[in-house]
Amino acid sequence: MLADAQGRVTLANKQARRWLRGSGRSVRLPQPVQALVRRVATSGISEGLEVPAPSGGGHRLWIEALSLDFAKTALGGDVLVLVEEREGSGVAAEVYRHLMRTIAHELRTPLTAIMGHTDILASCSIEEEGLWRRSQQFIAGEVERLARLVEDLLTLSRLDLGVSALVPVNLQVVVEEALSALWQSAEEKGVTLTLQAAPELPRVRGDADRLRQVFINLLDNGVKYTPSGGWVTVRLMSGKDQVRVEIHDTGMGIPQTDLPHIFDPLFRGDEARRAATGTGLGLTIVRTILAQHGAEILVQSEPEHGTTFSFALPIAA
Ligand code: ADP
Repeated sequence: MLADAQGRVTLANKQARRWLRGSGRSVRLPQPVQALVRRVATSGISEGLEVPAPSGGGHRLWIEALSLDFAKTALGGDVLVLVEEREGSGVAAEVYRHLMRTIAHELRTPLTAIMGHTDILASCSIEEEGLWRRSQQFIAGEVERLARLVEDLLTLSRLDLGVSALVPVNLQVVVEEALSALWQSAEEKGVTLTLQAAPELPRVRGDADRLRQVFINLLDNGVKYTPSGGWVTVRLMSGKDQVRVEIHDTGMGIPQTDLPHIFDPLFRGDEARRAATGTGLGLTIVRTILAQHGAEILVQSEPEHGTTFSFALPIAA
């Protein structure tokens, strides 16, 4: 619809008229939207607003007020108002707010600690080499973790844009590439990586780069959370119209109470925090990519005995 600078509707299509009636007014916008329109008409800067939908059920309306900065239109409007109903986006908005709070917290804690250690570096004398080195190592470690966090957040936001076309992919090659990326860190830790692949596996429908990321994240966790002397094994099995994948480790396992949360953004288990550094986004990225491939990831775990992640990818036609 179009509205004038006072927030009066000058033109509305059928859906907009229905919405206005739904809110109990024939030509007047609801008060918060009127205020939004007046603000946009004055500032010339477009703005959006989320309000509960009259239909209820947790649905929300996203109202976008766009400034028509080429003076008044021939139809007498200053502001174009678009209304979009978003199913259940109240929940999404809540998840988003929670994520923003958690990210802010994740960034503030290490930054405060880094600032503390830079103060130590600034004030300690040249003879206090031990102290100096500890602070320097602390800062280097935290900066590396923050850089990884930012990298993972960027990966997630790129994934949000959707997938490119899925094409036939040789999964064994993808897994071998991921294994070679993790080889060195596994060797340094004394963890053995193995691959068991059924002969002549059919190709799957996928995006090779994103699937490689899935294996890198799962193998990286396997290595991180498995003590020296343990194993991480990838199994590729041929099904009727799918290739089934299992990533099994003989590591510390996941407590029953943590299992419902491990795919949540920024969740990190207490034991995991003690055992290794991480961002808590690795499994969120894995689940997002697999969902884009029409696959669901499952986990089975027994504390102190190990963990198995499994999923199945459709065979390419
Ligand atoms: P990160 O590894 O950076 O903490 P992830 O999203 O990859 O974050 O994993 C979330 C949590 O799930 C980890 O903190 C850990 O508690 C648990 N987890 C994931 N993979 C494993 C595994 N292979 N063995 C034990 N715990 C795991």
